Amino acid sequence: MYQALYRKYRPMTFGDVCGQDHITSVLKTQIAQGRVSHAYMFCGCRGTGKTTCAKIFARAVNCENPVDGEPCNECPTCRGIREERVFDVVEMDAASNNGVDNVRTLIDEVQYLPTEAKKKVYIIDEVHMLSPSAFNALLKTIEEPPEHVIFIFATTEMNKVPATILSRCQRFDFKRITPEIIRERVLFVAEKENIAITPEAADVIARLADGAMRDAMSLLEVCQGKDGEIGLAEIRSLLGLSSKETVISLCKALSERDSCRALGLLDEIYQNRSDFKQIVGDLIRMYRDLLVIATVSGYRDFVGLAEDECRVMEEIAAGTTPESILYQAGLLENFYNTYDRITSDKRASGEILFIRLCRPETSLSVDALAARVASLEKALSGKGTIAPIRAEEPKNVNVPVKEAPPPAPTETRNNGTNGQYPQRAKLKNLLQGEMSIKYIIENASFQQEGSVLHVLTSEMFRGMLIAAGGEELILKYARELTPEITSVVIGTAPAKTEQKADGLEDL
Ligand SMILES: [Zn+2]
Repeated sequence: MYQALYRKYRPMTFGDVCGQDHITSVLKTQIAQGRVSHAYMFCGCRGTGKTTCAKIFARAVNCENPVDGEPCNECPTCRGIREERVFDVVEMDAASNNGVDNVRTLIDEVQYLPTEAKKKVYIIDEVHMLSPSAFNALLKTIEEPPEHVIFIFATTEMNKVPATILSRCQRFDFKRITPEIIRERVLFVAEKENIAITPEAADVIARLADGAMRDAMSLLEVCQGKDGEIGLAEIRSLLGLSSKETVISLCKALSERDSCRALGLLDEIYQNRSDFKQIVGDLIRMYRDLLVIATVSGYRDFVGLAEDECRVMEEIAAGTTPESILYQAGLLENFYNTYDRITSDKRASGEILFIRLCRPETSLSVDALAARVASLEKALSGKGTIAPIRAEEPKNVNVPVKEAPPPAPTETRNNGTNGQYPQRAKLKNLLQGEMSIKYIIENASFQQEGSVLHVLTSEMFRGMLIAAGGEELILKYARELTPEITSVVIGTAPAKTEQKADGLEDL
C-alpha cells in the first residue's frame, strides 16, 4: 500500500523531530523523571509536528523499556500503539467530533483504568473546534482528572480555546520550521526515496512549505517517479511556479505603470500554463521586499534576493514611493484572497487587476489618492519623475484589448474639424450644481466634434471624472443646451496653455 511521504517519514522519537528542540527536550526530561502533567496544549501552525509529538509522547509514557524519555518503539506496547491496536491511546479529531455528546462519551471512558497501557492518553486534534458546551463538559474532567489519564490538545488557533481550558494545561508553542531545516530534511528523504533533486530545488520546496514539514513532504511527492535530475527549472515547472525573472519583470512593469507590458507578461504566464494565483502570491512577496528596500537602509539581511536581483529591485524602488507600493500590494492581496471565489473568467479579472494597478487614478480610495500625492511630492522635490500613465495603444505585444479604456481623443481632436464648444460657459455653470464633479469641471476644457462632446482634463482628474459618473452627468446638461450632442468622451488635455486659455476666456 502506498504511504504518503509525510507518514512514512514521520519522526519516531523526540530526537527525530525537526526544529522543535525547545519542546522535545522538556517533554523528554519530564517523562524520564516521571513528572508528566495531566493536560498539555500544543499550539502552532499546521505541519509543525504537534500530532507527531503527541504520538511519540503517548508511546514514551507507556513504553516498557524507555530510554531517557524516548520510546523504544519495539516493545509490544509501543508496537500496539503504533499500529493503533491499543485502546488506551485515543485520537480524536475535534473538527469532526465537536459536539457535547462526543465529549461525554470520552469522559465516561476516562473513569476506567487502562487495560493494556500504563496511562490512558487522549489526543484531541483541532481542539478549538469543540462547541462551548463540549468545552464545559471537558472542563470538569481536566480540573480533577484521574491519576491514570493524560490529555494532549493540539490547536492551530489558540485564541479560540477558552481561557479556562488553557489555564489548566501546560502549554507548548510549536515554531514554524526554518527553511534550512526543511531543506535538509527534504534532501534526506529524497535520497532515501531515490529522488534526484538539487539543493536549489530543495530550497524552493523549503520556502514554499512556509514552515510546515508536512507541506514540504507533499511537495516532494510531486517529484517522485520523474526521470533525470530535478533542478530549479524542473521544480518550477512541476509545481507550476513562475520564474523569479517573470515576477521581477511584472513588479517593474506595474511600478512603472506600464500596463501594456504587464498584460504582455500575463499573456506569457497563461501560455506557459503557470498558476496565476501562485504568481500573484509571489508578486505580493516581491512587493514586500520592494517596500523593505525602499524604506530600510542596509536591507540586505531582510530580503532573500541575489546580488543582481537586488540591483534591479533598487532601481524599481527608486522610481516609486512607499505609498504607491502599499497601494499596489493592497490591491494584489485583495485579489489573492478572493481569487478562489472568482467564478467568471479569471484571466479577464487578472487583466482588469493589472490595469487598475497601473492606473491609480481610476480609484478614489484613500490609499490610491495617497499613492498619487506621494508621486507628485516626489516629482516636485526633484527626486524622481511621475511614472507616465500610458494610453493603451496596442504595441507589438499580443494584448487582449477588451478591458482597455477608450483611447484619449487627442488625435481626432486636432484634425481641424472640431472646435471649442460654444456653450462651454453655460455648461460649466449648469454643472456647478453637481458637487461630485464641480471642481474637476472648473479646470476642464470642452471641444465639440459633430455629435460628440470631448471633455479634456488632466490625467489625474480624468479617472476621477469617469469614476464619478461624469460622462452621464455632462451629457444630461449638454443635451439641454445642444440637442445634437449624443455622447460625451472624457479625455486628457495635451497642453496646459490651451486649458488655461479656455479657463481665462470663461472668466
Ligand atoms: Zn517501547
